[in-house]
This record gives sequence, structure tokens and C-alpha cells, in this order.
Amino acid sequence: MNPLRLAIVGLGKIARDQHIPAIAATPGIELAAVASRNAALDGIAHFATLDDMLADGLEIDAVALCTPPQVRRGQAALALASGKHVLLEKPPGATVSELAPLTAAAEATGRTLFATWHSRFAAAVEPARAFLADHNIRSVTIEWKEDVRVWHPGQEWIWEPGGLGVFDPAINALSILTRILPRPVFLTSAHLAFPANRAAPIAAELDMADTEGVPIRAELDFLQTGSQTWDIRVETDAGNLTLSSGGAKLFHDGVALINAKEAEYAGIYRHFVELIRAGRSDVDATPLALVADAFLLGRRTIVDPFEY
Ligand code: NAP
Repeated sequence: MNPLRLAIVGLGKIARDQHIPAIAATPGIELAAVASRNAALDGIAHFATLDDMLADGLEIDAVALCTPPQVRRGQAALALASGKHVLLEKPPGATVSELAPLTAAAEATGRTLFATWHSRFAAAVEPARAFLADHNIRSVTIEWKEDVRVWHPGQEWIWEPGGLGVFDPAINALSILTRILPRPVFLTSAHLAFPANRAAPIAAELDMADTEGVPIRAELDFLQTGSQTWDIRVETDAGNLTLSSGGAKLFHDGVALINAKEAEYAGIYRHFVELIRAGRSDVDATPLALVADAFLLGRRTIVDPFEY
């Protein structure tokens, strides 16, 4: 079977850091083109925009949309209408409501739509899910604190409406949470801190619960310097389970069970190829809905202006 021919749209940080190496390492798919207004790759067909690429007629089976969430819906709709399979970076869009029409378009055209949650492919996630299916959960605490200046240097889109601010990384925690817990989760209250000059929050506290009343607390910060924290702690009747380093490590009562090298994007591309071969889509809006609910329900505080 010929490898799937994929185009990357938006050659920014995540496309370079993760997508290009993961595509190269995945059997069944190859990078055939790039659509980027500002950059090109040696030896790979280049177009300034997705529209130009589609108009050219170059043979492409699928696109990976590595652009900011605010522009992804239009690109996804265009790509699906042109008969391409579509991989969406996280978050899958700037709104929850834009996803249903995209899913319907994928179904109507018989193409795959894959809304990726890269953190769900971290090594600790499936073992944690299996453990929690068999034990009583008492509480969950999320600490997701990183330095925006280190991880998102100069990314102005993150502070625009739909850019999500601190929820851009924190939605990864919510994607893990909603995968490992055995029951649905909903938001009960939130507090969001907005810099005076920005349209997205720089810090947040969330209180959530599952349908059995298990309390879930999340503390999110975009200004943490020094050591960075991407931890989820679950207190159970069989001890404490901690996923740290974004889910790369798993501890049970302090004893290390998993200490993996990061391989999330290899998992993403393996799954994308499987979905396409099976004629299926995979779109879960649950983490994005929790973020939307935080914007709906959260009390807002205005804090110091933020500049890079
Ligand atoms: P980025 O470095 O700003 O790259 C995004 C790219 O999208 C830009 O380089 C630009 O590419 C294109 N772009 C920007 N604005 C556009 C517009 N208005 N219209 C069309 N294209 C536009 O951002 P990133 O960090 O790679 O993040 C992209 C997505 O990946 C985000 O949703 C983010 O949450 C997700 N993600 C990021 C990370 C990370 O560590 N950075 C990790 C996981 C997921 P061209 O100049 O090539 O056109």
C-alpha cells in the first residue's frame, strides 16, 4: 500500500519540533508538501497557503493543521471539502460549536477527521486509566504551571480571543483528566486572571467534580519561572497516583512505575494512519468544553499587563 501523502499547514514551533520528526518515523505516511506563509523545507513542495496548495492540484491525501486555533475551522472545512483527511492540532478549534459541522463534513465526504490531544499519548495515561478503573477515587489535584516566555515566545495569537491563554497548555491536563477518570467531569466554579492588556487569562483556578462527587481542583499559571510543573495527583483508596512531566512519568505512593521518553506525536501519527485505513474519525470535544465552561462560569480578575 502506498504511503499517505501529507501536507503540513503552518510551519511553526510544534510543526518543526514534533510533527516533522514523528511523520518521518511513522510507517504508512510521508511528508509531501508544506503550506506556510513564511517558511519552506528543502526538497518538499511549498505553497504560501492551503488554498494555493489545493488549487495547484498536487496529489495530497491528508493535511495536518498546525496553525493557531482561530484559523483552523476554515482550513479544516476547505480541506475536507477538497477530499483530504484532516488532523487538527489541539485545541481542536476556537469554539466548541464549530466541531459538529466539521465532523458532519468528514462523515459526508468519507474522510477522517482527527482532533488530536497529544497528552493522551503520554506513557502514563493508559496505565493510569486502567488503575483508576479498579479503585475508588477520593480527589484529584492538577498543577499545570509553566513559563509562557519559555514555551510560547512571541506567540501573540495565544493572547487573542480564541487563543486560550493559560488554557493553551492546561487543556492538555484536562485531556488527560477526561481520559483517565472513569466518569464524566463537569466544572463547578472557576477564577480567571486576565492581564489588563490581554484577551485571554494568564492564570486560573478551577473546581470540578465527577458524577459521583469526587472533588477535582486545578491550579494553572503561565508565569512560573524555574522548575516547571505539569502534574496530576489522584488520591485513591489504594494510595496516591501521580502523573508528572505532562504524563511521561507515573508514580504510585512515590514509587516510580513509568519514566518514559516523550513519544506522544509518534502515537498521534500511528493513530491517524489507523483511522484513515479504517475509515473512521476521532473527535472528542470534552476538554475544550471544560475550558469553554470556565470562560462561561469563571469570575474574572484583572491583573498586571503582560508583555513578552
Ligand atoms: P506557532 O509557533 O505560532 O506556529 C503556528 C504557525 O501557524 C505559524 O508559524 C504560522 O505559520 C501559522 N499561522 C499563524 N497565524 C496564522 C494565521 N492567522 N493564518 C494562517 N496561518 C497562521 O504556534 P505553535 O506553538 O506551533 O502552535 C500551533 C498549535 O499547536 C496551537 O494550537 C498549539 O496549542 C499547538 N501546540 C503547540 C505546542 C508547543 O509546544 N508550541 C505543543 C502542542 C500543541 P506560517 O508562518 O508557516 O504560515
